[in-house]
Amino acid sequence: MLSVRDAEATILNSIQPLNNQQDIEFVDLLMANGRILATPVNSSLDFPHWDNSAMDGYAVRYADVQQARTDKPIILEVVEEIPAGYQPQVTIKAGQAARIFTGAMMPAGADTVVMQETTHREENRVFIFTAPQPQEFVRHQGDFCQAGSEIVPAGISLTAAEIAVLAATQREQVSVFRLPRVAILSCGNELVMPEQLLKPGQIVDSNQYALATLMRELGAEVLLLGIIQDDPTALEEIIGYAIANADIVISTGGVSVGDYDYIDKILPSLGGKIHFRAVQMRPGKPLTFATFPNSLYFGLPGNPVSALVTCWRFVQPTIKKLAGLSQGWQPTFLKVRSQSELQSNGKMETYIHGKLNLVNGVYQFQKAEGNDSSGNLINLTQTNALAMLPVGKTLVYSGEEVFVLQL
Ligand code: AMP
Ligand code: MG
Repeated sequence: MLSVRDAEATILNSIQPLNNQQDIEFVDLLMANGRILATPVNSSLDFPHWDNSAMDGYAVRYADVQQARTDKPIILEVVEEIPAGYQPQVTIKAGQAARIFTGAMMPAGADTVVMQETTHREENRVFIFTAPQPQEFVRHQGDFCQAGSEIVPAGISLTAAEIAVLAATQREQVSVFRLPRVAILSCGNELVMPEQLLKPGQIVDSNQYALATLMRELGAEVLLLGIIQDDPTALEEIIGYAIANADIVISTGGVSVGDYDYIDKILPSLGGKIHFRAVQMRPGKPLTFATFPNSLYFGLPGNPVSALVTCWRFVQPTIKKLAGLSQGWQPTFLKVRSQSELQSNGKMETYIHGKLNLVNGVYQFQKAEGNDSSGNLINLTQTNALAMLPVGKTLVYSGEEVFVLQL
């Protein structure tokens, strides 16, 4: 059976990330939070825009004050006061200084700032007690960034820091990748919507809620196609619609070997190439992955835990890579101590859901309490990590280190 590693490689190699010419849109800067930049941004300005002071103090000529000492202060004439936002009018000549504040423009003639703590002021005279370093406390034009240079690379998800930088360069809009479109459908005659009366034999289609929420958290635009009966004609019609309208199609249920599992038969008839139908993984063994010319298809198992675990493990990195992220889309495994004993049959790569707890500043993994059948949705609540036991590992004792996939 296909290993998780090989399944992952097959999936990741099949992804065609969104195109930075066709798949972009322009959004206002304040709407760009969490969007992925499609085109690198170059600065239109030098940063700082002009030489300015890094301190409250006096703008001076270094040559005037280089001999200053506590017992032999240099006395300068204060010829101008320069608050932030004011353009200096006077050129500082020998024996002169300007009162200056943090962020204010350096006056012509001055090259150094003396901080006010090492000075004494009497009317229009300032006493300098300590010799500064040449150019001390001056932030020079272009020191941080020069006009024309790249300030935000493409392929990163925009957060407060980048949005601040883009605003500072007077960008009002940015070009970002469009949101990836994900179609979600649930297969099964037993499924009903939460508001419907539950008849014997029926259960609520919780998977569409789980997957829609996860996909939206990942920044996808979700196309909810609802519950489809285990009926080949109905399934073929809806899957045909889904692959024509989404970058990624996720179905749950109908992919194991039961008599009512039709998905694996329908995909090839619609022109899809099935790459695998099972992965050496638990939960999540009956996982189908297929590619169509313009979309990827994930047929996840119906069990709610299996559906979410396979989605976390395989679909999550797929969305991130497809969405245009240039890095950081790979699943991240942390090595942490387990607070619980973890078991596997050793035949499958096993994923055990639970929580990462911070204990004295160090993360530890705690397995979810309660029945750990893959049919038990209830103890999934508060899951934020999956411990991974590789094939061959049957036991992780409490206190032992384990690799954990952070969700
Ligand atoms: P299947 O993969 O269709 O054999 O389904 C496996 C198990 O998951 C069965 O117990 C189904 O009733 C259950 N199941 C299938 N689809 C869903 C769903 N959308 N929401 C909740 N449970 C489901
Ligand atoms: Mg079913």
